[in-house]
Amino acid sequence: MSKKELNTVKEVLFWSYANLAMSHTAVERRQVKYETFNYMIRAKLFKGLVDETMNIRTMFDDEKIKLLSGSKCSYCGSTENLSLDHIFAKKLGGKDEGDNLIYACQSCNSSKGKKDLMEWMDYKKTFPPLMILRRYLKLVVIYCVENNLMEYSVSELKNQKHPFNIEYVPVSYPKPNSLVLVAE
Ligand SMILES: [Zn+2]
Repeated sequence: MSKKELNTVKEVLFWSYANLAMSHTAVERRQVKYETFNYMIRAKLFKGLVDETMNIRTMFDDEKIKLLSGSKCSYCGSTENLSLDHIFAKKLGGKDEGDNLIYACQSCNSSKGKKDLMEWMDYKKTFPPLMILRRYLKLVVIYCVENNLMEYSVSELKNQKHPFNIEYVPVSYPKPNSLVLVAE
């Protein structure tokens, strides 16, 4: 596929989500690289999300319980010094709600601080476990829907203050053999 034009917030978020779903499938199938059928699934999902025949919300629900019950750091897999981390930092308006809370070790927690999750990942030169990214994207989408931001252009959003940074939402994903679903 040629380079995609992503102008609105909605396009960026749904494109990222379609890529996430593609990566998820490829990791589960232990693929080394993406194949034609992966790209076809991605294109179909993106289209479905944009024209609203598909819905991002329902796809997440089954993952929630699984993630909350695991008692290890969601970012690095450590089982030491765990506490709850706010995916959207509290200082930036993140809520004390299940969707926004995950286990993190003290080291990850303090390293992340009040940074945006993906900004923190960029700073660490790493890519998050896909399940974490999935939770994060869900939060971003819900936030943008609730605040009527989906139709904004990306450049408009860059100049505003939100609990996430649109510039760090990934629009291309690493190869499947360099990704993990959950931290190990
Ligand atoms: Zn950790």
